[in-house]
Amino acid sequence: MAGGYDDRDGKIWMDGKLVEWRDANVHLLTHAMHYASSVFEGERAYNGKIFRSEDHSIRLRKSAELIDFEIPYTVEEIEAAKYETMKANGLTDAYVRAIAWRGAGEDMGVASARNPVRFAVAAWEWGNYYGDAKFKGAKLDISKWKRPSPETIPCDAKAAGLYMICTMSKHAAEAKGCSDAMMFDYRGYVAEATGANMFFVKNGEVHTPLADCFLNGLTRQTVIGMLKEKGITVHERHIMPEELEGFEQCWLTGTAAEVTPVGQIGDYNFEVGAMARDISESYEKLVRS
Ligand code: PMP
Repeated sequence: MAGGYDDRDGKIWMDGKLVEWRDANVHLLTHAMHYASSVFEGERAYNGKIFRSEDHSIRLRKSAELIDFEIPYTVEEIEAAKYETMKANGLTDAYVRAIAWRGAGEDMGVASARNPVRFAVAAWEWGNYYGDAKFKGAKLDISKWKRPSPETIPCDAKAAGLYMICTMSKHAAEAKGCSDAMMFDYRGYVAEATGANMFFVKNGEVHTPLADCFLNGLTRQTVIGMLKEKGITVHERHIMPEELEGFEQCWLTGTAAEVTPVGQIGDYNFEVGAMARDISESYEKLVRS
């Protein structure tokens, strides 16, 4: 049995070398701990191959640039680190977490140009993100927190600071017996869940919120491509809250979530219908192909 995430057997890749899992620690005065100066990726490997691995590494470097630091490793080096980590832990089907952050150093104020940028990769086995929701349909709460305006935060970065409201939203959702929360954006449009993008079906066509103030997920992009290949019309547009009433099906997409059907959002109900099931199955085939 695995213990807490800080108390497991295995290796973690840290700043250029593999270290014992329990020794992968940072100092209390790490800049990222105080000011959220970290960016990360969540990736999944299937049969030994990380799905869209390079795209994740490119996004990681881009996220760092967006919050004003450069990861001292190339995409190729990041790729090698991820596979080395999987190998060291004997994993072929795994969740891979790459993370870069501003470490402890000469600066302890808000500015931190003199502190080193650190980088690590951990990998472990992780089953369905929403448990049995994959089959039954997830139940979502509606968050009181809104995705912020792109003028207030770099919304294309997969950066720690953007997850503060996600954690609060998810805690509130879990307290109500829900698996996750749907968030509106700062204008009141339907945005996304706390770690996944959203899709809706009406009259055989698909509608998904325009990713203009939240992460345009790689899974989202893959699923849009799959739908179009199947000849299904996809509308990427602003979705008003009132429209939730008229949608027949809904699903979430994300690396961890994969394609998970949604049965309920607040008081709105959705069927776990044929299209949601078909896309979920097609995605599972694609990632293993
Ligand atoms: N939105 C948020 C807030 C996320 O954390 C994630 C997961 N990375 C996604 C969307 C989906 O992104 P992806 O499909 O690239 O995993």
